[in-house]
Amino acid sequence: MEKYKKLGLKLTPQRIAILEFLEGNKSHPSAEDIYTAVSQRFPTMSFATVYNTLDSLRMKGEVLELTIDPFKKRFDPNTEPHHHLICTKCRHIVDIGVGYRLDLSEGDSKGFEITGNHIEFYGICPECRKR
Ligand code: ZN
Ligand code: MN
Repeated sequence: MEKYKKLGLKLTPQRIAILEFLEGNKSHPSAEDIYTAVSQRFPTMSFATVYNTLDSLRMKGEVLELTIDPFKKRFDPNTEPHHHLICTKCRHIVDIGVGYRLDLSEGDSKGFEITGNHIEFYGICPECRKR
């Protein structure tokens, strides 16, 4: 609760429920997933509230927006640099390479100041391989 105050967001009960759902969540939920989960506690909450809260958090650097899933944006409360592996059948996403550093040589960076990178790996997850 204390740490949410520093976000500078107006903390409505709905927004707190969204923040609590995201806290430590490793499932890389979509906005729809978050809405489905949180609206069980707050049936009157609108999808726009979820979407706007995610947008504010993204702009404050508190949540990452992942474009690895071609069908919908996915959100990640873990903002430490890391990479992802996605199952091309069920679209389950897992973290990989936490702490893994990837550097470009002077020549390869083409004069850019490099501020980040993100690698997407594709594959079939263990559950889908069993089917
Ligand atoms: Zn799968
Ligand atoms: Mn992640």
